[in-house]
Amino acid sequence: MRILMYDAKQYDIESFEKVKADFPDIQIEYIDTDITCQTASLSKGFDAICAFVSSDLNDCTLRSLYDNGIRLLLLRCAGYNNVDLKVAKELGITILRVPGYSPEAVAEHAMALALSVNRHIHKEYIKVRENNFSLVGLKGVNFFGKTAGIVGTGKIGAAMARICHGFGMKVIAYDKYPRADLDFVEFKTLPEVLSQSDLISLHCPLTDENYHMINADTIATMKDGVILVNTSRGGLVKTEDLIHGIRAHKFHGIGLDVYEEEKDNVFENREMDILESSITARLLSFPNVIITSHQAFLTEEALTAISQITLQNAVDFKNKTLNSSNLVE
Ligand code: NAD
Repeated sequence: MRILMYDAKQYDIESFEKVKADFPDIQIEYIDTDITCQTASLSKGFDAICAFVSSDLNDCTLRSLYDNGIRLLLLRCAGYNNVDLKVAKELGITILRVPGYSPEAVAEHAMALALSVNRHIHKEYIKVRENNFSLVGLKGVNFFGKTAGIVGTGKIGAAMARICHGFGMKVIAYDKYPRADLDFVEFKTLPEVLSQSDLISLHCPLTDENYHMINADTIATMKDGVILVNTSRGGLVKTEDLIHGIRAHKFHGIGLDVYEEEKDNVFENREMDILESSITARLLSFPNVIITSHQAFLTEEALTAISQITLQNAVDFKNKTLNSSNLVE
């Protein structure tokens, strides 16, 4: 089986090359171009393509892939809101993803963001380098004894809940399907979680139903001085309303690994560009906001698991033994 991997970064190549020996029937060609309607034509002669969460797998791209004979789309990520599923189904393109490569990688990053904005580590790092040892403006709060509100208690949300529990926090959560195994978590309604938490961490997928779930109305119900962390998907938060909330001093801190309009920025070095969108610049103008570039997944363990599961998905497709939990329908 020949796989064309789009948008392949150095760390992708390293991790796939490391596990490739276990999959002798697979050949991978790496290109750094991301997939678009135009670049889909490069897939001619391959059996499958491999794409990431930032690739726009829209109607035109999928049809072009189909015309080139591609019937298997391997997503080396968990999320699939970037794929036009209706068109993929109509064309009979099988989509396989990696649903749970390392929930702890993402949850640990969510806590890193929460701790950093709470204790102003991002400001302090720069200040001390400039010989400024003043403590003014650096006051944080203890997490111990505070309430963590987890929205979405799937694999990552559950890992975050366990981390918060370990910090001595009371953990409350909202999920459409509350789970019994997290016995230290109190499940509540979404309005209750948003209004009672000192730290809110988003871990649900982005759907039509929860698009902009964090907006002016829901921000107004939050505690003053709340910390908000989003490592899930940018569309969960209405950024304009978030910016108003920041200006109104609602938040102690905000940590975003994902944000609306991140698409052109994610994984690119844009140091010399004049950015078309002002969202990143506006968010970064606030001292209590940290943005990372969709990097929550980026650990050694997660990358190894992603490579292994992606290549196993390819083998399963060939052998017609699909793992149903990796199948996107
Ligand atoms: P998961 O499928 O294990 O869990 C998602 C949970 O959200 C489920 O329990 C589901 O019932 C719940 N849910 C669905 N709709 C909901 C809603 N409207 N309100 C509340 N809960 C809802 O997924 P996961 O592996 O835990 O991943 C969660 C999200 O994290 C993914 O959808 C993805 O967007 C994001 N993610 C981000 C990164 C990153 O690097 N930043 C990496 C992987 C995943």
